Amino acid sequence: MDQTKPTNFIREIIDKDIAANKNDGRVHTRFPPEPNGYLHIGHAKSICLNFGLARDYKGLANLRFDDTNPETEETEYVNSIMEDVKWLGFSWDDRLFYASDYFQKLYDYAVVLIKKGKAYVCDQSLDEMRKYRGTVTEPGKESPYRNRSADENLDLFTRMKSGEFPDGSKVLRGKIDMAHPNMLLRDPVFYRVRKTSHHRTGNTWAIYPTYDYTHGLCDSIEGITHSICTLEFEVHRPLYDWILEELGVHHPQQIEFARLNLSHTVLSKRKLLELVTKKLVNGWDDPRMPTISGFRRRGYTPSSVRTFCERIGVAKMDSIIDLPVLENCIREELNKTAARVMAVLKPLKVVIDNYPENQTEEFDAINNPEDPSMGTRKVPFSKEIFIEEDDFREEPPKKFFRLTPGQEVRLRYAYYITCTGVKKDDAGKIVEVHCTYDPATRGGDSPDGRKVKGTIHWVSARDTYRAEVRLYDSLFTQRDPNDVPEGADFTTTLNQRSCEVLTACPVEPSLKDARPGARFQFERLGYFYVDPVDSVPGRPVFNRTVTLRDSWAKIEGKR
Ligand code: ATP
Ligand code: MG
Repeated sequence: MDQTKPTNFIREIIDKDIAANKNDGRVHTRFPPEPNGYLHIGHAKSICLNFGLARDYKGLANLRFDDTNPETEETEYVNSIMEDVKWLGFSWDDRLFYASDYFQKLYDYAVVLIKKGKAYVCDQSLDEMRKYRGTVTEPGKESPYRNRSADENLDLFTRMKSGEFPDGSKVLRGKIDMAHPNMLLRDPVFYRVRKTSHHRTGNTWAIYPTYDYTHGLCDSIEGITHSICTLEFEVHRPLYDWILEELGVHHPQQIEFARLNLSHTVLSKRKLLELVTKKLVNGWDDPRMPTISGFRRRGYTPSSVRTFCERIGVAKMDSIIDLPVLENCIREELNKTAARVMAVLKPLKVVIDNYPENQTEEFDAINNPEDPSMGTRKVPFSKEIFIEEDDFREEPPKKFFRLTPGQEVRLRYAYYITCTGVKKDDAGKIVEVHCTYDPATRGGDSPDGRKVKGTIHWVSARDTYRAEVRLYDSLFTQRDPNDVPEGADFTTTLNQRSCEVLTACPVEPSLKDARPGARFQFERLGYFYVDPVDSVPGRPVFNRTVTLRDSWAKIEGKR
């Protein structure tokens, strides 16, 4: 294997298996989503793990839709899942499977179990089954239908399949042990009657297999070697093993790892669906959603998500990863790759009184100091510019090194300016700041070595383009949104200010033609992504991907 990859307990298991020539040394994993929602960042962890192991061990990884639940599954979800896996940079090649492809095989295996006396048709209602199951401390009781003959079971099961019985009237159960300390082995349900149309098999089937019955058999049929899943399936493993052993078929090893929990968000498809259906967000790909499509639209790159998944590693213990761990991954990448530009979010007009009325100049601005090969661009400058409202204070607090009456600051790439006064409207609100500039500081450097403590960004008012900018913040206010008082709902912890839309932000004129999908650093403000859905040619919409850890903060003594 690739020795540069940090090891983990799953890799150690695989290394041992290869050394023992288990499965002839093959490594074959799968990612098995249920198509009942869009994938989220937790699924990305599972995808990177499964496809990453296959890549590193020169094995294979399948994409398999676990589509045994006809009511909740839709083709829209299937398509979004495929798009997301591809976007993350992984390929299943020709190994795209559906559990529903195996319905006939699964049925045939059930017949084998019935013939072996290891499965029976039970007529108990759900309620009765629950009562008979017992509790953790008490053994269950056997169903009165438990001792039906194999022939009778076979006859009933065939008739279940042909649609003779109404929904919920009969189930097929494994015949295991009603006193088993693991409740999941107290004659678990394998098949239910459900006369529902399936998104792929239509009305062919009147019975559908359960997750527990299906999953291990699909793994087995596909020749999976390591079936990697989240910790909650640990208690299901004895059942996974039981089914495969009773049938004597290829037996993959189930390995559990801790699911990803991310702070300030929820990673449950049910809850994410609730946000979407109640219109608390604008769809599955809302840039605030922790879905892969949400992160994509927010401006995350596939490599930043992969880096995150590698960095958090895999463990056996549940924990919550703080959102900044993820944000740092995209920041680090965009710091190196995104072109820097100047934009003003909350504009304040500055008039440079001693600058000639009709003059325009162009300054060379560096596109990315981290990468000289990205070159420079021209930025226009004129008598009137916009600066950030926050960068001016008439009555500054201590250590305010930005623009304030009497104090000189550097306009990035342009000149030193000094504030001489302000103009206010009738309500006393500052509408203009007046300054003078020193022509000797052209380009932003002083010939006499005179130092200024603050450098601020700006946009020429004459040449500006006014863009729509969307500032996103975390979707929930709490680190753990599920930590709410009894009776309260997780939606009560939604961040009411998670999206601020600014409709007319002055930006460098070249940004008018920014292409959907382009990424920029707005100097001192953060990283922004041109929204691929709402932008139109000549009218880009910028989504804030992530704020910037302001590297100028120290110089300016702020934040
Ligand atoms: P549910 O079963 O509630 O619909 P799920 O999130 O388990 O939701 P699946 O489609 O069954 O959804 O998940 C597909 C795969 O992704 C499974 O192998 C599952 O273990 C894994 N997975 C799901 N959530 C996470 C998570 N938060 N972290 C890591 N892996 C996850
Ligand atoms: Mg699941």
